[in-house]
Amino acid sequence: MTKVFINGEFINQEDAKVSYEDRGYVFGDGIYEYIRAYDGKLFTVTEHFERFVRSAGELQIDLDYTVEELIDIVRQLLKVNEIKSGGVYIQATRGVAPREHSFPTPEVKPVLMAFAKSYDRPYEDLKNGINAVTVEDIRWLRCDIKSLNLLGNVLAKEYAVKYNASEAIQHRGETVTEGASSNVYAIKDGKIYTHPVNNCILNGITRKVIKWISEDYDLPFIEETFNVEFLKKADEIIISSTSAEVMPVVKLDGETVGDGNIGPVTRKLQEGFDKYIETKSN
Ligand SMILES: *Cc1c(COP(=O)(O)O)cnc(C)c1O
Repeated sequence: MTKVFINGEFINQEDAKVSYEDRGYVFGDGIYEYIRAYDGKLFTVTEHFERFVRSAGELQIDLDYTVEELIDIVRQLLKVNEIKSGGVYIQATRGVAPREHSFPTPEVKPVLMAFAKSYDRPYEDLKNGINAVTVEDIRWLRCDIKSLNLLGNVLAKEYAVKYNASEAIQHRGETVTEGASSNVYAIKDGKIYTHPVNNCILNGITRKVIKWISEDYDLPFIEETFNVEFLKKADEIIISSTSAEVMPVVKLDGETVGDGNIGPVTRKLQEGFDKYIETKSN
């Protein structure tokens, strides 16, 4: 029986219910994280919950949990569901209150929910690469917050699906920002280019790991904006996320990227990523 976590309890999936007045439901007023488990251990879990706490802070949601308590909850969730390879989704909404845009007064308790699922690493795609399309970035200007408001991301991903692609690479005007649910990198002449961390992108934990790997291997990691034209002329393109890891993009808008093969920088980053799985899971 699958168990989910809601407000302090591990309960059977079918008994897991939330109120129709939950602000996550009516306003998308909340935040989330998605954390990977490899061999029953959590990957970069502290980094994920530090970001969760930051997202909460930016939305002035008072979480009643410390990072240690949150780690303990997701660990227990993996355990009770006997998950080895998989992921944990966790979200907090501002809470339940009569529908009014401004924050509830008096303050209400946030609603914390988490569930875990088992799945394998995307071995086939990591080896062969994926297709991507470009799409205008229509999201709000606080993309640094991992919030439940994902309409721009949802529409971008659906556009990708329509054109037989696995990811939509968004651009704000000509500037490439990030994927619908991933960060984006253009590799040119052995250098890795990616959008700087600011309000226009989500500061990915996998992005952080890629930065560590690039330091380990002395690969230049250049955090500067670039345009769609630069991306289309890249030798290699990758996207990264907790579930996609270091994912090669071999086709962009129907055109072959570079020479169509998985490039040497991508391979190095993938090799480095496997090492971090060993050292950063606990
Ligand atoms: C979660 C997310 C990412 C990837 O972040 P990771 O921490 O690497 O999983 C990138 N972009 C967006 C919009 C996201 O929501």
